Amino acid sequence: MPDPKYICQRCTNCCRWPGFVRLTNEDITRIAAYLRQSEFRFIQTYTRLRPHRDGLALQDQADGSCVFLDGKGCTIHSVKPAQCTGFPNEWRFPDWRSVCKAIAVEAEDRGRALEPKDAQRPVAVSESPPHDP
Ligand code: SF4
Ligand code: SF4
Repeated sequence: MPDPKYICQRCTNCCRWPGFVRLTNEDITRIAAYLRQSEFRFIQTYTRLRPHRDGLALQDQADGSCVFLDGKGCTIHSVKPAQCTGFPNEWRFPDWRSVCKAIAVEAEDRGRALEPKDAQRPVAVSESPPHDP
């Protein structure tokens, strides 16, 4: 049986996990344009250096949630970083299923939800930490 696909339920739990939302150059260009500001201003306003200074990540709010979470959802949903759009189908972290509410469906039939025991079977796990999401 092929791996299921996971359909996000927009619970926003992945926007509240501790960690780093990594930004690619393409993410920065796309989000800055959406916000109608220069890339320089976007970087100055919304980003921070990742550990080891190996790139940029989004800033957190005081409670640890992502700077673009407004309480109900992502304010840049249509242009959000690739790391956000890739979770949980393209990358995962250990124990991700304990907080993610995404519904598993058959890869060939996205309209049919799997039984919970099938949805929670072991899958390949990324080493990336959360918000990493
Ligand atoms: S950019 Fe949006 S989807 Fe990504 S962590 Fe922040 S609020 Fe969540
Ligand atoms: S935790 Fe899972 S279901 Fe919730 S918003 Fe993130 S990807 Fe979607």
